[in-house]
Amino acid sequence: MFIFYFIRFCLLTEYEHHPVSKEVQTVVGLDFSMNTLYVDSEGKRANYPRFYRQALEKLTREQRVLSRRRKGSNRWHKQRLKVAKLHEKIANQRKDFLHKESHKLAKLYDCVVIEDLNMKGMSQALHFGQSVHDNGWGMFTSFLQYKLEEQGKKLIKIDKWFPSSKTCSCCGQVRESLSLSERTFRCECGFESDRDVNAAINIKHEGMKRLAIA
Ligand SMILES: [Zn+2]
Repeated sequence: MFIFYFIRFCLLTEYEHHPVSKEVQTVVGLDFSMNTLYVDSEGKRANYPRFYRQALEKLTREQRVLSRRRKGSNRWHKQRLKVAKLHEKIANQRKDFLHKESHKLAKLYDCVVIEDLNMKGMSQALHFGQSVHDNGWGMFTSFLQYKLEEQGKKLIKIDKWFPSSKTCSCCGQVRESLSLSERTFRCECGFESDRDVNAAINIKHEGMKRLAIA
């Protein structure tokens, strides 16, 4: 009996996964984006695939049709089912996309830095009339976290009050105001960059400071 438990213990411990912490050589910063999910510090954007956008448009149309049907009628029930199926399809497409994106990043980089969500996300969501939840950011970051951790890599979340958009990633000067409509960040030092890329670079730098302290 004891032998049985001993063997079982060995098997269990063997299957426990203890990834060895990997030395950080490559770091990337991600700036949350309502439209594309994220913009990274290298200037790359994750774009939701076209079929996903098309399905979203179709959903809006079908929901409009549903709202015109008499509640409880046969045609209403039929339409409701159609909308529900479309919802499910979209949720699956989104999940698939988020898995692919997080997998790609976790493979490419040793450390990914993001902002802890996020007043910025909230304000952007309000601006675009969508919820942060719809965009899948929460799901994306949790996928990213476990995919990194199982390889001994890191996800660093930085403080949501860090002024990533208003700081110049070149000289560090913080601008007093920056409206959402200003897509290009310009600084007195002469630095000019896409607004989101500038933010992503700042997020990366902030994460690297944390790495140096840790
Ligand atoms: Zn500057």
